[in-house]
Amino acid sequence: MADAALDRLKADGRIVVVGASLAGLRGAETLRDKGFKGSLTMIGDEPYEPYDRPPLSKQALLGKGAAERTALPRRRELDAEWRLGVPASGLDMAAKRVKLADGEEVSYDRLLIATGVRARPWPNPAEAELDGVFVLRTRDDGAALARRLDAGPRRVLVIGAGFTGSEIASACRERGLEVTVAERGDAPLVGALGGVIGAVAAEMQRENGVDLRTGVMVTGLEGDTTGRVRAAHFSDGTSLECDVVVVSLGAQRNTEWLIGSGLGAGPRGIACDAGCRAFDIRGIVTDDIFVAGDVARSPHPLFGYQFLSLEHWGNAVSQAETAAHNMLSESTERRPHIWVPAFWSTQFGVNIKSVG
Ligand SMILES: Cc1cc2nc3c(=O)[nH]c(=O)nc-3n(C[C@H](O)[C@H](O)[C@H](O)COP(=O)(O)OP(=O)(O)OC[C@H]3O[C@@H](n4cnc5c(N)ncnc54)[C@H](O)[C@@H]3O)c2cc1C
Repeated sequence: MADAALDRLKADGRIVVVGASLAGLRGAETLRDKGFKGSLTMIGDEPYEPYDRPPLSKQALLGKGAAERTALPRRRELDAEWRLGVPASGLDMAAKRVKLADGEEVSYDRLLIATGVRARPWPNPAEAELDGVFVLRTRDDGAALARRLDAGPRRVLVIGAGFTGSEIASACRERGLEVTVAERGDAPLVGALGGVIGAVAAEMQRENGVDLRTGVMVTGLEGDTTGRVRAAHFSDGTSLECDVVVVSLGAQRNTEWLIGSGLGAGPRGIACDAGCRAFDIRGIVTDDIFVAGDVARSPHPLFGYQFLSLEHWGNAVSQAETAAHNMLSESTERRPHIWVPAFWSTQFGVNIKSVG
């Protein structure tokens, strides 16, 4: 982009951010930091201003801070138009317009997509609807689960022993609740951290009173006559009475709204180059649509330039900052997003930190 066009964009251009959470907010703040004075529109399907998710499986479940009180601190004034509680439902790349579910359309010169992921639901919809069956991704999920744990269930079943599932089990034990964790793999956290750390995590869970069942799948959930969950059945033929079930089976990327748009988006995320520019479905890089956070798939130099999605808090912040910088830069001034994967998890009184 020529200098004059870039100056016009900075002075009175239109930038739209879809996904008003961690990556969306930090991206928008960076745009203002970099001197963007034009109109900024933040579109978010949740009715809340950006909030932080990590506390939802930690402090919020322990009653040490309500799920409603995890608003993200602001780094600066944004001066943005907020369109909250209304999802983006489509994208017209040629006309440079985002369509909203309420029928409105918002035009852009530059678009930042940061629509993240959602919790993978329990695969049987009727069982997923049973009272007492939860997932944990949003502030509303966190508040509802915390209320149910406050009521003192007799036994909680957590399905899936990844980070979120393990943290939920930890919070249950800290509250003195009986908890069973069912994991298809050989150990908790094994997918992310491998067998050695997985074995340590298993020991930690059992030492802390978790009824950990590995190498087993939950095959069905059973409700009582009032529609409340009462039992779960396992692939080894056993059953368990439980009155709360938390389904913690990973995430699905929020890309359905882009179907038919021509953007390179699908169940694995939105493909982008190292500079956070989205690819279209022909594999040609766009120059006005950028991607950041959990929904992005970008080439990573540490992993042979494979396209990876990193569902980590720090990655969302760093990628959003890079995307925003590049949105306002000449091509020679653009930066690649090179982030060493790093995350933390707090469970059973232990802080796990992983880098690399
Ligand atoms: C319970 C929990 C605990 C976690 N703990 C840790 C941790 O300890 N350490 C760590 O590194 N990471 C942790 N994470 C992950 C971290 O929170 C994410 O990496 C981070 O939230 C990603 O930010 P994001 O903005 O890319 O996506 P999200 O936070 O998922 O935000 C995307 C937003 O876009 C909205 N959206 C989706 N579709 C549309 C649409 N069509 N129109 C408008 N808006 C839309 C979504 O509703 C959401 O508000 C945790 C996550 C959860 C859920």
